[in-house]
Amino acid sequence: MNQFAVIGGGAVGLSIAYEFARSGCKVVVIERGLCGQEASWAGGGILPAAVFDPKDHAYEKLAGLSAKLHRQWAEELKAATGIDTGYHRCGEIFFKHEAISGDPLTRDLPSLSARGIRAELLSAKALKHLEPNLAIAPADLDDLQVYHTPNSAQIRNPRHLQALKAALLQMGVSVIEQAEVQSFEVKGDYLHAVQTTAGRFVADRFCLAAGAWTSHLTNRLDCALPVKPIRGQMALLQMEEPLLRNVVHQGGHYLIPRLDGRMLVGSTLEDVGFEKKTTDAAIAQLLQFAKTRLPLLRDASVEKCWAGFRPASPDGYPFIDALPGFANAWVAAGHFRWGLFLSTGTAVLMKQLIQGEDLSLPLDDFRLTRNAESMMPLGRSDR
Ligand SMILES: Cc1cc2nc3c(=O)[nH]c(=O)nc-3n(C[C@H](O)[C@H](O)[C@H](O)COP(=O)(O)OP(=O)(O)OC[C@H]3O[C@@H](n4cnc5c(N)ncnc54)[C@H](O)[C@@H]3O)c2cc1C
Repeated sequence: MNQFAVIGGGAVGLSIAYEFARSGCKVVVIERGLCGQEASWAGGGILPAAVFDPKDHAYEKLAGLSAKLHRQWAEELKAATGIDTGYHRCGEIFFKHEAISGDPLTRDLPSLSARGIRAELLSAKALKHLEPNLAIAPADLDDLQVYHTPNSAQIRNPRHLQALKAALLQMGVSVIEQAEVQSFEVKGDYLHAVQTTAGRFVADRFCLAAGAWTSHLTNRLDCALPVKPIRGQMALLQMEEPLLRNVVHQGGHYLIPRLDGRMLVGSTLEDVGFEKKTTDAAIAQLLQFAKTRLPLLRDASVEKCWAGFRPASPDGYPFIDALPGFANAWVAAGHFRWGLFLSTGTAVLMKQLIQGEDLSLPLDDFRLTRNAESMMPLGRSDR
């Protein structure tokens, strides 16, 4: 049969399914709700500028690989499905970049330049020329810490997810929705089947890619995976015309201009468990940031606000590895702030790992054992 089952239909799970289906495998995706409706829908779709440098750390290499693959996949998905994922090179502007706790992607100007990523300090004149609608306070330019990465890109993530799902269906992948995995059938070191709310599914190989919920699954397989939800809130504003070209960052906040005039304003980083709601205070703060930095947004109407759960690991690195104690189960989870971006590289690596192919980059930093202390085995009774 050689059936490969992916549990979780977010960007990570759908991308892994896509990569396997393209290599001729028989694939099933098992999704609790509808595909692409959780973190991967909630995210902003920023794809930072990145290059693949063999001298870099594994995380930066994964970023470089993913950036290259996004360019290719956007074209391939459009050709296969007719869906334009909105991939385009938009650039990013950073006002005094501050490192974000737990985010391994270094984005300060010296680090970017050292890695060969095009990044330019902007004068007030250059900034005004690049983004005439931005409000620039004298304090912003006091120490001239505004810089630009012209090669950053973005996707309309809901469309990217639709395109992935459509491509999977075209390739004959079974996409089973409204099927929550509730328990596992294990024979020795072999994961034999999953029991879901929509029936039982047998497969030869399994990949758990259930985002912030992945540890709920691994707990039942004797593995305490340290992945937890970190809530992010977003507001979507509607304008007739695009007011920016670049994504604009300040501290942890950002503005993402869509080509149709919409503007995404993000975000928060909140350790509040699975409480999926927006709060008046956070949305007010996001809107205040947006309207201060881009005064023309004062006329914009708020189309929608939402919250999603980033799947966070203790060090911000994803887990891309075999599940301990199993010969036919793997995990891809914990991508935190960059799961949309890193989903393409993760998919390629996961296929290489499972199929015993040469790896595009070493996986040591993505192994489950790197957090050995948090990976204590659980009792076998809890299946
Ligand atoms: C506000 C916000 C902004 C973000 N901005 C960006 C950005 O600009 N760029 C970027 O790269 N990343 C961004 N991210 C991060 C990114 O969205 C996530 O890292 C990524 O979506 C994780 O993908 P995933 O497939 O692992 O998880 P998810 O998209 O959450 O998918 C997991 C899937 O598993 C399913 N599932 C769970 N349990 C079960 C079960 N028992 N059985 C079956 N299915 C199950 C869920 O229903 C879900 O569909 C952002 C996130 C947020 C919240």
